[in-house]
Amino acid sequence: MRQPGNKTDFSPLAEALLRWFGDNRRDLPWRQTKDPYCVWVSEAMLQQTRVETALPYYHRFLERFPTLADLACSSEEEVLTAWQGLGYYSRARHLRQGVREVQQRFGGQLPASYEELRSLPGVGPHTAAAIASICFGRRRPALDGNALRVASRWWDLHQEVESPPARRFLHQHLQEAMPADRPGDFNQAVMELGATLCLPANPRCDLCPVASLCLARLRGTAAELPLRRVRLPPRPIEVVCAVIHRGDDCLLRKRSSKGLLAGMWEFPTEPVETETSPLQSLAVLLLSWGITGEISSPCKKLAATFTHLQWRMSIFLVSLPIGAGPSGSVWRWAALSELQALPMGRPHRRVAELLERALPGHPEDFQGFSP
Ligand code: SF4
Repeated sequence: MRQPGNKTDFSPLAEALLRWFGDNRRDLPWRQTKDPYCVWVSEAMLQQTRVETALPYYHRFLERFPTLADLACSSEEEVLTAWQGLGYYSRARHLRQGVREVQQRFGGQLPASYEELRSLPGVGPHTAAAIASICFGRRRPALDGNALRVASRWWDLHQEVESPPARRFLHQHLQEAMPADRPGDFNQAVMELGATLCLPANPRCDLCPVASLCLARLRGTAAELPLRRVRLPPRPIEVVCAVIHRGDDCLLRKRSSKGLLAGMWEFPTEPVETETSPLQSLAVLLLSWGITGEISSPCKKLAATFTHLQWRMSIFLVSLPIGAGPSGSVWRWAALSELQALPMGRPHRRVAELLERALPGHPEDFQGFSP
């Protein structure tokens, strides 16, 4: 293996890795196709999501939207519904926007070049490289978290691995190591090694097909790598969530098209000042929405953690007389039986599950919940 400035032949590394991949690759559905649309869907799902979690969603999504054209003519609500539970919903919205753009700009055929793929909404460097290499045989390293970890160990790189200089270094070295005739297999093999043997903690160097070529293994530094920026923990904020119901119908609000849980339906949820009690804050919010109802107390508490934020939710049940409630396009009433078919983020899905157990007939069951 080489350090910067020294030319070294990488073919033993690629050969050992590809041989191992041929014998040990997991039988995953997106590996049985070179259809760029399917590979795109899989890459979108696998960002931030484990393979085991993504698998049933991948099957269901392709049953619901078997072709790029099917997805392109779907509504955002249909796509979010198919995606719900996977989280990071901007991936689903971008995927839909992206396929619509493929229809308009490329006549429904995904382009082969990395640059054109990158020009599509939501197609980042990793996804573009994965599609270009796997489906079109382009020689382009796909640098996801697994590949960055593996490559930083191969070359014993002691730089913050997400930094531009580190990415440039690893990109250049992987590109040189990538055989011209199997770039897609090489990218997948690197990711597979990271997912199965070159693990973040306790890498299985004893089983690794390239152990004799790995500088971190030879120098005893594998457990220290990759170097990463220290991430701040999610910032906690207090929110109130109003479960407003009249009989078995409950009031939902569509979240803004930008930001957290964009475009999803919710039980109206708002951040509150810490110096004001959740109950007082809710009373003010109800007034601002023109709602007069009976608030049940005490509230339930739930915590919902996102990448940068943690909601500490105080959830109140608010009973409305028949016929009352706000109007407007962001509001809708939905029967309990309809909730499952509507796109909702995980926190509100959890609230819906509580509600389904509590209504009808026993709203008191909704009280006194402890997280
Ligand atoms: S030898 Fe160890 S550290 Fe190096 S690539 Fe293999 S599993 Fe990772």
